[in-house]
Amino acid sequence: MSDPSAQKAKMKSAKKMRDLMTAYYIDALSAGQNNKRVAWITSGGPVEPLLAMDIIPVYPENHAAMIGSAKMGEDLCTKAEEMGYSTDLCSYARADISCSVVKGGPLGGLPKPDMLICCNNICGTVLKWYEVQARFYNVPLFILDTPICHTGYTPEIAKYVRAQIDEYIAFLEVVTKRKFNHEKMATVGKLSLEGQKLWQKVLNTTAHKPSPMSAFDAFFFLALIVTLRGTQIAVDFYTELVQEMEERIQNGISVVPGERYRLLWDNLPIWYQLKWLSGKFSEHNACLVADTYTSAWCGTIKYIDENRFLDSMAEAYTRIYLNIGVDQMADQVLEMIKFYDVDGFVMHSNRSCKPYSFGQLDIMGIVQEKAGIPVLMIEADMVDPRNFSQSQVETRIDAFMEIIKQNKG
Ligand code: SF4
Repeated sequence: MSDPSAQKAKMKSAKKMRDLMTAYYIDALSAGQNNKRVAWITSGGPVEPLLAMDIIPVYPENHAAMIGSAKMGEDLCTKAEEMGYSTDLCSYARADISCSVVKGGPLGGLPKPDMLICCNNICGTVLKWYEVQARFYNVPLFILDTPICHTGYTPEIAKYVRAQIDEYIAFLEVVTKRKFNHEKMATVGKLSLEGQKLWQKVLNTTAHKPSPMSAFDAFFFLALIVTLRGTQIAVDFYTELVQEMEERIQNGISVVPGERYRLLWDNLPIWYQLKWLSGKFSEHNACLVADTYTSAWCGTIKYIDENRFLDSMAEAYTRIYLNIGVDQMADQVLEMIKFYDVDGFVMHSNRSCKPYSFGQLDIMGIVQEKAGIPVLMIEADMVDPRNFSQSQVETRIDAFMEIIKQNKG
């Protein structure tokens, strides 16, 4: 069997993506010398007002994912524990908090922030994490509170969150001592929506059989829609990526040669084991064609109106995947199972990410009952390898794939 990573290496967008991310981090690291401001922002936070004010957004979670990929997670998490943080704390938080102190990680520390923007639509952990960092750097912190929408978006929630968007803008005006640029905001809003639609298009290409890319590629290509959402750079990049995937489909190139089985992944990637996991599933001619994680950055497009971006943004950022009820999450998973026509569901029970992992047993039951496909649960952690046993996971994947092979015949 040919090496699947060889085909992956042929994706010309991969090099471009690395170059863009390098340029982005150089820009952020040299912001102080260029009279620019940096804001740290949570991955699910509304970034568009920052771009409208020419503030460079930096995502500690993206940085922590790089730590995980670089296999630096154990060392940095251990250092955080030596500072007194519990092993139960999310490994993104542990790795980044210690990074600030020891200036470690792949970049020798994150770009220094001038302010912090924390939105709790992903979890409650970020509230304390950002408080700690605001004290450490002695910079202002803005918290955007988005109540969980178990069943829907009520008028009370709409009013409450929308009012905070105005407070967010007022906060930026005070910190930057400049008036908010509504004209630029409208442009950024349009670019943000366009970028999200293109990202959705990229992910949709994997509905094709065989799939031109896998969830492992999506984990890699995700970084730009997270960090540069709302810019022309992201729109141009994803336009080219869609073209590249369409070319691969036309030329019959599949990311897993001889693809026979299609799987859906749940929860964050196990960053330090991507290569091994990708190879392991490929051995079984199985392709992870989609995942619930990367689709979160285009999952609320339906709520966005580019002509009233600020108003609709409040709803879109409140109703993201991690801020809705388990039944709604399960509905989204069932839709994906159907759309991508998958044969099995792989759930990463992630020790770090409680909001992602707590409802998984319920979702598993719903999927088994309604979709009737096998489900595999893997216990791990996205950054801290001390919570991953390769031999155990390997045994489980092998057994799971046997069931899928028997089911499919
Ligand atoms: S607990 Fe989950 S959502 Fe929160 S910061 Fe950690 S990984 Fe992200």
